[in-house]
Amino acid sequence: MRRKLSACLVAAVAVSIFAYGASKALAQMRSAAHRAYGQINLKRLMSADQHPDQWLTSGRDFGRSYYSPLNQINQSNVSRLGFAWEYKTHTVRGLEATPIVVDGVMYSSGPVGQVYALDARTGKGIWTFDPSNNMRVNQHSCCDEDNRGIDVWEGKVYVASFDGHLYSLDARTGHVIWKVDTIANHARGYTSTGAPEVAHHVVIIGNAGAEFDARGYVSAYYLDTGKLAWRFYTVPGPPGKPYENPELKKAAKTWDPKSDWKMGGGGTVWDAIQYDPELNLVYFGTGNGTFYNRQQRSPDGGDNLYISSIVALNPDTGRMAWYYQEVPGDQWDFDVVQPLILTDLKIDGSVHKVIMQAPKPGFFMIIDRKTGKVLSANPYVPVTWAKYVDLKTGRPVEAPDARSFKYSTNGKKYIEPSPMGGHNWDPMSWDPQTGLVYIPAIENGQTTLFSGKTYLRAWDPIRGKAVWNVPLMDWWDHAGVMSTAGGLVFQGTGDGYFNAYDAKTGQKLKSIFTGTTIVAAPMTYEIDGVQYVAVMAAWGGGGWNFAHPNSAAYQRGNEGRILAFKLNGGSTPVPPLLPPLPPFPKPPAQTGTAQTIKEGQQLFSDHCASCHLNMDRSLAPDLRRLPPAAHTEFQQIVRGGILQAAGMPPWNDVLTVKQVDAIHDYIISLDWQAYNSQQPQKKK
Ligand code: CA
Repeated sequence: MRRKLSACLVAAVAVSIFAYGASKALAQMRSAAHRAYGQINLKRLMSADQHPDQWLTSGRDFGRSYYSPLNQINQSNVSRLGFAWEYKTHTVRGLEATPIVVDGVMYSSGPVGQVYALDARTGKGIWTFDPSNNMRVNQHSCCDEDNRGIDVWEGKVYVASFDGHLYSLDARTGHVIWKVDTIANHARGYTSTGAPEVAHHVVIIGNAGAEFDARGYVSAYYLDTGKLAWRFYTVPGPPGKPYENPELKKAAKTWDPKSDWKMGGGGTVWDAIQYDPELNLVYFGTGNGTFYNRQQRSPDGGDNLYISSIVALNPDTGRMAWYYQEVPGDQWDFDVVQPLILTDLKIDGSVHKVIMQAPKPGFFMIIDRKTGKVLSANPYVPVTWAKYVDLKTGRPVEAPDARSFKYSTNGKKYIEPSPMGGHNWDPMSWDPQTGLVYIPAIENGQTTLFSGKTYLRAWDPIRGKAVWNVPLMDWWDHAGVMSTAGGLVFQGTGDGYFNAYDAKTGQKLKSIFTGTTIVAAPMTYEIDGVQYVAVMAAWGGGGWNFAHPNSAAYQRGNEGRILAFKLNGGSTPVPPLLPPLPPFPKPPAQTGTAQTIKEGQQLFSDHCASCHLNMDRSLAPDLRRLPPAAHTEFQQIVRGGILQAAGMPPWNDVLTVKQVDAIHDYIISLDWQAYNSQQPQKKK
């Protein structure tokens, strides 16, 4: 008995000594082992304002305000903001996502749906996920390989890959729990670039492709199994077949039965699907119609529901609660897929549950999200396609001749906004303290597409007017925005700065040179009493292949990274300047004829030119600088897909050997022109 007791005592003492000596290490082990990964649930999401140290959705809260109540970094000390850490993504294409931070872990996504899980305090990688193995690179992508984010929910990370697969990943390890192909028809030009959205029991994803021949839809999958719960097509299919969803019966009446159905109709949902737990509704905007020109698309006209519309669905049934078409019978590539901000707003004395949106067509929309009724629609950029939106009917009153592109203003003939819109995918921010929405706004028109002006615009949604404007660089410079209770608005720039502005006045209070073009929106979080501001950095999106000479991408390349800043941080590492361009190499002898070169030029313009601009430092390879080996292997590269991993899809299903030879002849002629232009003129 005694001995037994002693043994127990010895054991107990040994354990306690061990525990005492190793308590710190044990605590660390325990915290790592028991660290919660991705534990976001409805309760946490609905109390996000009480826990501003977390950033739980792409826009922080369920309403996607892109506003944080954190104020450690504020107007009085933002001058001391400096570098905290960086994480290199080892990618060279666009980074558009906003990271999510929960319980000290940052999750974000890369160009084709890579996922990075990092220690949010240090930027050290925990795991990465890369869907690009065996991923077919799509020949149809209007606007770069891009991904606008993830959703994190109850221990899982949801992401869509560029080729339209939806993944459920274990938030702790990155392992695939399930994977599902969301593309209804791979023969059409579908890609997925938006973030999935968890809504009640399902996760919802859409896709892009209305620039090609896609028919828009969203799909909902059960969280646990990945099984399809429902699919909602936004536009009808050819007449004579059953409607996939009952809402298409009404929609079909707004299309000419002789529409060009093989083009799919458009109406794609390529971003900004948003769940409203307060009303148990899912909202999304739909894209343009295909073709853009309604006469080509639906010769007898019509509104062409549900293109260019905001749609509200019940996530449990997939049935429509309401819709509001912002652009009946769209003609101008006016997607209304731009981010939605859900909030409560006092208008004329009563509080409404609203959606705020600055969509492409240029009217700042405030919509009652219970009913879909338009409460306010003021132009936040110059708008000439419509005079105003009739709030009684909800219909825009089109300008005379707006559809024939003959509309004249100040003696100039053009329609505003441009196909880029008054605002595009870049997140805007709603600051309830100032009552202002900060919009990366674009002012240009259909015929002045690449010469417009851009602004960081502080917009008073109630009064319907701009309060301040900060001019940005050019049409391509319009990065996402975040505001904070520190009285600050944060935004990156095309020439590689990360700026903080006074939220009330727009005065620039801090500017950090990063040397990387920024298009994504910043976010902020707090760990162990330290507030961090982070942003993904790399140029991309619409116009991705063009790098403006003033851009950081042109001067310093486009290596992607995630940057984090904090007070009293260090100096930000800046990528070195790129070396001067080498001379054009000597191309092989031209064996083509004038005829094949001409054929090749046409084929090049139809299939290749949207990526290969052949300008200095354009991001898709400059074919004037093809190395000799690429000439030798031209067929294998173009038809054989040997550079697929580098982003060059195989074209054997589109182009014949003879056609590729013709394209090669044309490129050789281009190369000779470039080569000869740099040779010193021979003296006679
Ligand atoms: Ca479009």
